[in-house]
Amino acid sequence: MRFIIGCKPGEHPEKDKSVGIVGAGPAGLYAAGYLKCKGYKVTIYDQMPEPGGFMIFGVLEIHIDKEKVRRGIKELKELGVVFKQNTRVGRDILLGDIINVHDAVLIATGTWKSRRLKIPGSDLPEVLPATEWIVDYHLWKYGYSSEKPMIKPRVLVVGGGLTAVDAVYVSKWLGAEEVYVSYRRTREYAPAGVRGFKEMEEQGATVYELTVPVEYIGENGHLVEVKLEKLKLVQEPGKRPKPVGTGEYFTLKVDMVLEAIGLIPTPPFNGGDYGIKLRDDGTIDVDEYKRTTREPVFAAGDVSHGASLIGPAAKSGLDAAKAIEAYLEGRLGWRTS
Ligand SMILES: Cc1cc2nc3c(=O)[nH]c(=O)nc-3n(C[C@H](O)[C@H](O)[C@H](O)COP(=O)(O)OP(=O)(O)OC[C@H]3O[C@@H](n4cnc5c(N)ncnc54)[C@H](O)[C@@H]3O)c2cc1C
Repeated sequence: MRFIIGCKPGEHPEKDKSVGIVGAGPAGLYAAGYLKCKGYKVTIYDQMPEPGGFMIFGVLEIHIDKEKVRRGIKELKELGVVFKQNTRVGRDILLGDIINVHDAVLIATGTWKSRRLKIPGSDLPEVLPATEWIVDYHLWKYGYSSEKPMIKPRVLVVGGGLTAVDAVYVSKWLGAEEVYVSYRRTREYAPAGVRGFKEMEEQGATVYELTVPVEYIGENGHLVEVKLEKLKLVQEPGKRPKPVGTGEYFTLKVDMVLEAIGLIPTPPFNGGDYGIKLRDDGTIDVDEYKRTTREPVFAAGDVSHGASLIGPAAKSGLDAAKAIEAYLEGRLGWRTS
């Protein structure tokens, strides 16, 4: 995987301006490749022990060639991009300090928090956010942590996206005997699509479409059962059909739940700090040039447009890099609103 697009290394002389990038996922890496190749000094700050973002710690090896990702990162390092790993911005270093030392800053910190169901029993120790659990799995698999993620014989995965599909695979690989999936619509409307559901079933998962957990039932402080409600779809003009409750319920005996119902943007600062505005959905407010409400801070990737895929995040990072180049060359001013 090459992160250098639209420029040949060595084509441009080195410049004395520097760009700080927060986040080493596809958005940050493609931006780094472009800007470094154009001669700028580039430093990437990233919280994980290894760069790559969800390409390394989220997506499974069966869906992406991680050695290709690592080769692309090696090429960036050889070109002179500085990687500061194990550096959580907001905790180990403040965003303000990064703004102070660079001529432009790009925030590309993705969506590293799972949305959660708020139902009785959500606080039981065996009810976990799927994405964080998959990140823990990769930390353990690549030797960055000695702690094997929790696994129980009977697992319920909640959701119908790519994370749900991956949660089914990892549950099976770690030794779960029975895996169930609850999804509130039918597979035709699921983000993972009919193909994703076929994959889950091929792994031996039993899929319950048109259902939603309404209560996690515990005994002596541990999960023993999940109560689910059956749903039906109500057509709404011009929209995806809406799932509504039928008042019919059933229970499943499971001892672990992985919730994969969506991801929340994770900017490296509290909303409103540094004069950087967030939208109501938590994404960073950017204009068509990826400019935030604070000069000279740009934002790209999932943290600016919500959870997506590698391709759109990469394109967003590249677009931001081109805007940063125009800004540093004085061809682009700052937004006025
Ligand atoms: C389980 C799972 C499976 C997926 N499967 C696929 C798939 O099969 N195909 C596909 O195209 N897409 C898939 N995706 C989605 C895809 O990986 C993302 O859309 C994409 O990686 C987003 O890129 P990004 O650069 O915006 O952010 P990310 O890749 O999320 O990278 C953000 C980076 O910012 C860093 N960071 C976050 N906060 C801080 C902070 N405070 N300080 C410092 N660093 C910070 C993180 O460590 C990370 O390196 C999957 C996602 C998940 C979670």
